[in-house]
Amino acid sequence: MISVLVSSRAASLTPYTPGEQPRNREYIKLNTNENPYPPAPAAAKVIADYKADDLRLYPDPQFRHLREAIAGSYNLKPEEVFAGNGSDEILSFAFYAFFDSSRGPVLFPEHTYSFYPVYCGFYELPFQILPLRSDFSIDLSSYLGIENHTGMVFPNPNAPTGIGIDPKDIRSFLDRYRSDRICIIDEAYIDFGGRSCAGLIREYDNLLLIHTLSKSRSLAGLRVGYALGNPDLIQTLFTVKDSFNSYPINRLSHDIAVTAMKDRDYSSKTQQKIIATRDSTVKTLTGLGWEVLPSMANFIFARLPGISGEQIYLSLKERGILVRHFNHPGISDFIRITIGTESDMEIFIHTLKDLRLSRR
Ligand code: PMP
Repeated sequence: MISVLVSSRAASLTPYTPGEQPRNREYIKLNTNENPYPPAPAAAKVIADYKADDLRLYPDPQFRHLREAIAGSYNLKPEEVFAGNGSDEILSFAFYAFFDSSRGPVLFPEHTYSFYPVYCGFYELPFQILPLRSDFSIDLSSYLGIENHTGMVFPNPNAPTGIGIDPKDIRSFLDRYRSDRICIIDEAYIDFGGRSCAGLIREYDNLLLIHTLSKSRSLAGLRVGYALGNPDLIQTLFTVKDSFNSYPINRLSHDIAVTAMKDRDYSSKTQQKIIATRDSTVKTLTGLGWEVLPSMANFIFARLPGISGEQIYLSLKERGILVRHFNHPGISDFIRITIGTESDMEIFIHTLKDLRLSRR
């Protein structure tokens, strides 16, 4: 009965499946790449001191203070900064703004953020998936040989592999990539040892970078992300945003995000802690016979030869530890493990050693 009310567009959607957020028991959550440390104390103080009366008023549709704070931390101008309700929203606006099905498919890598094909479905954009190298790294040169396409998107570091690309390799790629196509780099995990391409946006008008406060700023629940790019690209994102929702960032989130962006000392300390915990976890897992891809993110992608990824995921879940398993050909042996606190990872390793796993 209800189905007669549903548009054919909505009926044909295949939505993104977010990682589990179970409420039935306490888990050690190593499955959705959240930061295990609390947000900056200064951000908590914004909440404590917030005057509820201010919520009578709409927020600034231009997010001016936030864009100034973000611009300040990259030595850019506010005109080169856009912000939104999480980087997912900005990705969605960017797909709408810069990809055009009449010019050909959107290009992205084989094993990558699974929201990209979902946005393509949403905007009815064809896409073409480019294989990774045998070591699971992204082969940028393969993007140069495809004449017919509308632009490209990839995460750096890639998710779920964690493998990063150096900006100097991205620069030499962009020198050879066509300037009339957009290159969107999703830098969601860049602050865990990778190097941002923010310094390149003035050289390449077709480069758009997308960031989030969800990971390195411990604010996944706040829903704030931002984009860096040429002012014309940023203006186009505003046009899309203003055709959809004038106020995607609420007043309280805006003020917390401003404070979090300014508190670089705190976030860099927690990022360093996560990097140190990641490196020691990798060392321990390797010693236990695991193969771990080289990660520049707050997660690692790893497999234990001879044992199925699903078995490890299910056995850990039974013991109260959630990791992420993708049942996709080519990576189904792997599990993705978010780096938690040192004590989370000690429990993880201890539990892992204790599992009775059967070989295939
Ligand atoms: N890009 C990548 C590669 C991600 O893994 C995520 C997190 N799921 C996002 C973007 C979106 O992050 P958020 O919407 O929380 O900013």
